[in-house]
Amino acid sequence: MSKILEQNLSLEEIADDGFEKIYYITDPSVGLRALICIHDMTLGPALGGTRIFPYPSMEAALTDVKRLARGMTYKSAITNVGFGGGKSVIFASPQTKTREMLLSFADAVHQLKGLYTCAEDVGCTTDDVATIGERTPYVVGLMHEKSSGNPSYYTAWGTYRGIQAALQHKFGSDSVAGKVVAIQGLGAVGSLLLQHLFWHGAKLIISDIDWEKTQRLAKLYGATACPVEDIMQVKCDVFAPCALGGTLNPKTIPGLQCSIVAGCANNQLLSESDADLLREKGILYAPDFVINGGGLINVAQELLPQGYDPMIARDKVDEIYERLLDIFAMADKNNYSTHQAAVAMCDYRLQNKIGYRTQAPVYHHFKNA
Ligand code: NAD
Repeated sequence: MSKILEQNLSLEEIADDGFEKIYYITDPSVGLRALICIHDMTLGPALGGTRIFPYPSMEAALTDVKRLARGMTYKSAITNVGFGGGKSVIFASPQTKTREMLLSFADAVHQLKGLYTCAEDVGCTTDDVATIGERTPYVVGLMHEKSSGNPSYYTAWGTYRGIQAALQHKFGSDSVAGKVVAIQGLGAVGSLLLQHLFWHGAKLIISDIDWEKTQRLAKLYGATACPVEDIMQVKCDVFAPCALGGTLNPKTIPGLQCSIVAGCANNQLLSESDADLLREKGILYAPDFVINGGGLINVAQELLPQGYDPMIARDKVDEIYERLLDIFAMADKNNYSTHQAAVAMCDYRLQNKIGYRTQAPVYHHFKNA
């Protein structure tokens, strides 16, 4: 176990065979407790968001950060962005996080000298990443003119294209017109996905723990507002999980009344075997780390030597459609789950170092700021 100390900031390494590095970060002077987890750097340095969440225990936070970091390894491999998988979590809520906490966390990221680059995630806003960016270049998705901005727009568009691919595979047409889509979670991505679906003619059932927001958006988009405890049992064509992870599990899957599960949330399956339960029920599952790769694709573009170009980012995000069709076909051919097909594709890319980064990322926003 090694320790890096700078004034009150401490990075303590936690050994774990399945991961390249895990650091427990503390700074008692500002109340910071955080974890940075680097799962795999076969294809490049690690990149992944910073989740700010009031974890009830260290165990819960470690489980979450490890699952999220592993998901980033797969997401990076399948989206071909030349990064490895990493993630970080800060033990705080939107109410308890402070500027000082974020600056101290930024110092910890900076000490890793680019092994890990952070971005926004649940509980971490674009203002928060801007604060982190005051102390370290190793952050993406800033509102800076040389940065890519909020990734949620690209995640939402990629998720919409993923829903279209799933409809194409299941029903032979990728039109969402007249299809019933149930959205769980109306945050940064879910609320944008709602708009894409609305303008393309879908019928919508929506749910968020914020009931006032659910009702407001239901009125705007002619949707049916649904209580959180019912959204996973509504009859629909597509169930789109866009809140937190672990929602697809042996308790919830039997109650699903949809043909397709396709949404942006990370780690939707509580365990990998839940993909088999979905398959046995005849539900087509769009693997989360494939359908929600739009945000990663977008932020990765800003680190290219030539700088960020939204047109290139848009075209690359659009490839999610074809990628999912390939995964669905592979799963059918091999008679296994779509999750297994996506993992097999990623493992092949990792084993053969396909998409390995040959040029160091360029942090234009910092260099020229
Ligand atoms: P967000 O925090 O803005 O939104 C999450 C929303 O889910 C909130 O409105 C919250 O109230 C709601 N929610 C929480 N629990 C719920 C429940 N049980 N039922 C219904 N609603 C509930 O987060 P986001 O950026 O929109 O991300 C949503 C999901 O997508 C997360 O899992 C995130 O990791 C994943 N994701 C986001 C991006 C991105 O670009 N933002 C990229 C990839 C993956």
